[in-house]
Amino acid sequence: MKIRYFDHAATTRVIKKVWEEMVPYFEERYGNPSSLYSMGRISKKAIEEARIKVATLINSNPNEIYFTGCGSESDNTIIKGIAHRNKNKGKHIITSSFEHPAILHTCQVLQTQGFEVTYLKVDKEGFVKIEELRNAIRNDTILISIMFANNEIGTIQPIEMIAKIAKMYNIVFHTDAVQACGNIPIDVKRLGIDALSLSGHKIYGPKGIGALYVRNGIEFEKLIEGGHQEKNKRAGTENVAGIVGLGKACELANRQLKENMQHLKSLRDYFLSQVEEKIKDVKLNGSIENRLPGNANLSFPGVDGEALLLNLDAKGICASAGSACSSGSSKPSHVLSSIGLSKELANSSLRITFGEENTKEDVDYLVENLCEIVEKLRK
Ligand SMILES: *Cc1c(COP(=O)(O)O)cnc(C)c1O
Repeated sequence: MKIRYFDHAATTRVIKKVWEEMVPYFEERYGNPSSLYSMGRISKKAIEEARIKVATLINSNPNEIYFTGCGSESDNTIIKGIAHRNKNKGKHIITSSFEHPAILHTCQVLQTQGFEVTYLKVDKEGFVKIEELRNAIRNDTILISIMFANNEIGTIQPIEMIAKIAKMYNIVFHTDAVQACGNIPIDVKRLGIDALSLSGHKIYGPKGIGALYVRNGIEFEKLIEGGHQEKNKRAGTENVAGIVGLGKACELANRQLKENMQHLKSLRDYFLSQVEEKIKDVKLNGSIENRLPGNANLSFPGVDGEALLLNLDAKGICASAGSACSSGSSKPSHVLSSIGLSKELANSSLRITFGEENTKEDVDYLVENLCEIVEKLRK
């Protein structure tokens, strides 16, 4: 059976051009970048070229990019790194209640170590309330971390405004942009972002590689002790092939950004219009305007979300309820709860995230099966 993949927010395939760029670094170019002989220098050069490509995607300086093991590591590094570096200045952190677990759980750990965390609520479309943010700021606030775009409902936050407020109070502003990077334009200089996390496997690069941008002049403690790699900020022999793959993925994402956005948005809008036309009683979760182009999150009252997924899977359709990270637990998604959905409604939700390789014909197949399954499950 042909597999139709609609779960690009969970992960993506490594596209061919990326893979081809990586292969030589597993085979003949396996030198350690710290070695002085030419094979080592070849690896070192590949890393620095990839760094430029990542920097170009977000308009930072290359020397503001640190390679990490994943998006989660980038989040951990900056939250813990800023907290521990500044604990003499203050111990208060502001984030939102619907961040990725890599942020939420890291903050919870810090709370056991004497830090205080304010979790901002979001409104029913998933936006942080700016007034609430202003009110949460204290003299001892050292970090604000608000995600760029949400992984479940795709809401894009007013990042420029949040960054402006952080700057006014001289507080470091970090954003988890793992979902946003490569999907919408990001310019850290123009937006005033101090630190940003991104990940390879969400943008058609490999798993196990991430990057952290930290503006020059901002100091943070390192997470992993050892050698002096990554300007002494992240020990461990570099994942050269992964870094090369991430660089290539960023280069391609940057080059095709407009076309990809248009493609994803047209598939998504076609999907939504078809669903609206063909299925009764459906609710769209999140905002329609400030939303990632490829994201649709729907609730089907009276339908069990897990049964829906399993029935779709039987038809070769990969989709998700809430997020991949929370599957396996029967707890309703913390994101859907935070925008005010009841437990029942949250547990009757479906996330569809479109990707480059999806076609209109894929959407037709999806809608056709979705109609049948929803009708069956509602009986
Ligand atoms: C996937 C994801 C992460 C984690 O990235 P990994 O590379 O899988 O560790 C963090 N934040 C958001 C918003 C994500 O979607």
